[in-house]
Amino acid sequence: MANPKGELESLLMQRSLTDAQLQAAADSATDFRILPDATVIKIGGQSIIDRGRAAVYPLVDEIVAARKAHKLLIGTGAGTRARHLYSIAAGLGLPAGVLSQLGASVADQNAAMLGQLLAKYGISAVDGAGLSAVPLYLAEVNGVVFSGMPPYGLWMLPASTSVIPPYRTDAGCFLVAEQFGCKAMIYVKDENGLYAANPKTSKGATFIPKISVTEMRANGLDDSILEFTVLDLLKSARHIRQVQVVNGLVPGNLTRALAGEHVGTIITAS
Ligand code: ADP
Ligand code: MG
Repeated sequence: MANPKGELESLLMQRSLTDAQLQAAADSATDFRILPDATVIKIGGQSIIDRGRAAVYPLVDEIVAARKAHKLLIGTGAGTRARHLYSIAAGLGLPAGVLSQLGASVADQNAAMLGQLLAKYGISAVDGAGLSAVPLYLAEVNGVVFSGMPPYGLWMLPASTSVIPPYRTDAGCFLVAEQFGCKAMIYVKDENGLYAANPKTSKGATFIPKISVTEMRANGLDDSILEFTVLDLLKSARHIRQVQVVNGLVPGNLTRALAGEHVGTIITAS
């Protein structure tokens, strides 16, 4: 335990918060995982929920069965309705922070619907995953649904290139997993994983079962199946050192991923 509390305290009183020695001292305590047994799964918006019953019902069954053995924090994406809002709002010249609020409302809608489908199994949707009753739900029923958009709202960090909010639901779910020190982060989407190019537009693109963030960047693959801000977050994360992307349209994939099997693509921090 190399946390010289006295030293940190005196540095905090005397130095600026950006001081290197102060930062190192603040970082010297052993990391603590808040929810180490939980896994975050993100149910895609456009990729899954927008497909309606055919895609969502089988996943609900899988979630209900899987929660017997796993504690699940279930985040939702936004999808097509958010894209429609973004197109209108961007056309009106509105900024990323406003688009972020609009996108969040759609992820909220998806969480509300998924929560209703899981209600009879005792699984609820919560407003804001920021702890509150999340540990209680996990302890009692092994599952809880949350809206995946990070709550930056108007304070969304804007990108220089576009008014599309760069931190959307892939990032929001990742941050929940990282802050809570969860066991794993699994993205449930509509492709088998990462390909060398978007398989919707490049038929025959090569499938990539495992890759690091650095390799993705080197291969120019960062506009891909995940929001690219997730790659930066993954690189600097302490707890979540890899994420897995699985095809949720294939029955059993989510269950296999939860069991630690390598289905889909695993993207590693290093
Ligand atoms: P979600 O609804 O979960 O946010 P998205 O639709 O945003 O999912 O992202 C998944 C989509 O990303 C896939 O359906 C696929 O069309 C697209 N995509 C773009 N580039 C790639 C790539 N290199 N490999 C796989 N999928 C890709
Ligand atoms: Mg997306």
